[in-house]
Amino acid sequence: MFKVSEIGGILVSIMYEFTHQAEIRSLSDEAISAAAKALMKGLLVAFPTETVYGLGADAFNGAALARIFEVKERPRFDPLIVHIAGIDALERVADLAALDQAAREHVDALIQRLWPGPLTLILPKQPSIPDLATAGLPTVAVRFPDHPAAQQLIRRSSGAIAAPSANRFGCLSPTRAEHVQEQLGDRIAMILDGGRTGIGVESTVLDLSSCRPRILRPGGTSRECIEAVIGAVHTESLQLSDPCSPGQLKSHYAPRTVLTLHHREEMIVLPYGESEGYLFFDGKSRDAWYRASKPGDAPWIRTLSETGNMTEAAANFFDLLHELDKSGCSAIRGEQAPEEGLGSAINDRLSRAAAAK
Ligand code: AMP
Ligand code: MG
Repeated sequence: MFKVSEIGGILVSIMYEFTHQAEIRSLSDEAISAAAKALMKGLLVAFPTETVYGLGADAFNGAALARIFEVKERPRFDPLIVHIAGIDALERVADLAALDQAAREHVDALIQRLWPGPLTLILPKQPSIPDLATAGLPTVAVRFPDHPAAQQLIRRSSGAIAAPSANRFGCLSPTRAEHVQEQLGDRIAMILDGGRTGIGVESTVLDLSSCRPRILRPGGTSRECIEAVIGAVHTESLQLSDPCSPGQLKSHYAPRTVLTLHHREEMIVLPYGESEGYLFFDGKSRDAWYRASKPGDAPWIRTLSETGNMTEAAANFFDLLHELDKSGCSAIRGEQAPEEGLGSAINDRLSRAAAAK
């Protein structure tokens, strides 16, 4: 589940945080190659796009994705946009075969006419994209940025870079490398300086995963532009009474199984319920619970991080919650994470999952 190479990545990242200021490099062939190498090691790199500067991580590396939330101090796990550098790369991240014929035609027309550019498409995801990139949703947001340095960086790394805007939570989106330096300079490996970004507003987010195309966020590609390619699109939010697949547009993943939250002290003394699933924060509380509750070889016990490493816990969070949700257990008991750093994002997601019923 959590690969040794990813744990290595976490250690390298943490060492960076304590020992480095981000290297700011003007755009050059060598700088882009060095940035691509850093990404492949699981480090974070800020890079220019035609909209704003992005805070990039390898989209296939769960631990690197967890670091994005950590360095931005995002109190929530929101889905990230996965950046690719060519139409041919789309099927590595999105499962186009899962679309119906009409949606497939829309995708083809839009990417031919409007990519590269500030248009993000929401599409069914490929299993290789970690849940942390999509906040547990079955769909992935994909964009092909219209910026030569961004494209080269993506091509020279894994081919898919997840990136939100490179600012701390609640701060303005950065349109210059100096803005990134001020906010994140002490916590990331490198900033590629491409001068001022052109558009300065974020990409338009268009959902093509449900049966009617819908703009979820207006941005750098106008509605008129999109409609000129695929005809009318919706912008109003989906009503539950809508006959068109209600529920598909849920903005966050919620388990179908009832989830109850417990503080650590409460969790470790819970009596064992035979058909229940348990999601522990670390090995310490799980072991304490085993000693107190003697569950035998209970099948549905999961632990976010054996050692209580917060980045690892965040990287495993959605996978394990999905696993328990699908296991057939009658209810899930979830332990709250310590309320610090990424723990707040884990707790936010747990409490929303618990409130969903
Ligand atoms: P940003 O944080 O500026 O990169 O914005 C990403 C935007 O894309 C946010 O508005 C997200 O809610 C939206 N988004 C990303 N992935 C999805 C998805 N799978 N479904 C719906 N919206 C998404
Ligand atoms: Mg942002």
